[in-house]
Amino acid sequence: ILPFKFLALKSNLIITDTHTHLYSEEFDQDRNEMIQRSIDAGVTRFFIPAIDSSCTEAMYDLEKNYPDHVFLMMGLHPTYVKDNYLEELEHVENELAKRKFYAIGEIGIDLYWDKTHLPQQQIAFRTQIQWAKKYKLPIVIHCREAFDEIFEILEEEKSPELFGIFHCFSGTYEQALRAISYNMKLGIGGVNSFAKHILFVIFNVTLFIMECSKC
Ligand SMILES: [Zn+2]
Repeated sequence: ILPFKFLALKSNLIITDTHTHLYSEEFDQDRNEMIQRSIDAGVTRFFIPAIDSSCTEAMYDLEKNYPDHVFLMMGLHPTYVKDNYLEELEHVENELAKRKFYAIGEIGIDLYWDKTHLPQQQIAFRTQIQWAKKYKLPIVIHCREAFDEIFEILEEEKSPELFGIFHCFSGTYEQALRAISYNMKLGIGGVNSFAKHILFVIFNVTLFIMECSKC
């Protein structure tokens, strides 16, 4: 966090954490201290991706406590697409209609943990992309072992109005160029930024964003 502090103090830069699940139970013990440390170090904006309906109240609480720093997204995370996914999508749709969000996320396809809900994940991803177009919001994509499946849907849904971030990008140089061709920026997380092929992507593309989240 020291380089952030140096950058923030030496310039008028606003440093933004573009992907952080600050409402997670893991942070219940020291959430406020942690957020204050970040703000003191110059990281003053937190973009908060949703997971499923069970986290909505905690997200709203976080926003109430840090109204100048917290910017909420709304969406159904692909690893939480289960048999009740239509109810979960309805929740997302209702919340989107109710109030302002800053992105639809995180959404996408994850075939690492479980492939059994792939058809449902595809429907959820496509549906939420269509809501992003409707509300003119960026999307935040979660992609794990699913580049082909994600690109298939982006190819069908691509449009000048569709844009966003490929969160925690882990693909090849060719996949990076393809993602960028769909108006996506690449999120480079700390976890994978040491992989050689990601360093190659970083040095060869310009549209990337540094992230610290791992989920
Ligand atoms: Zn996440």
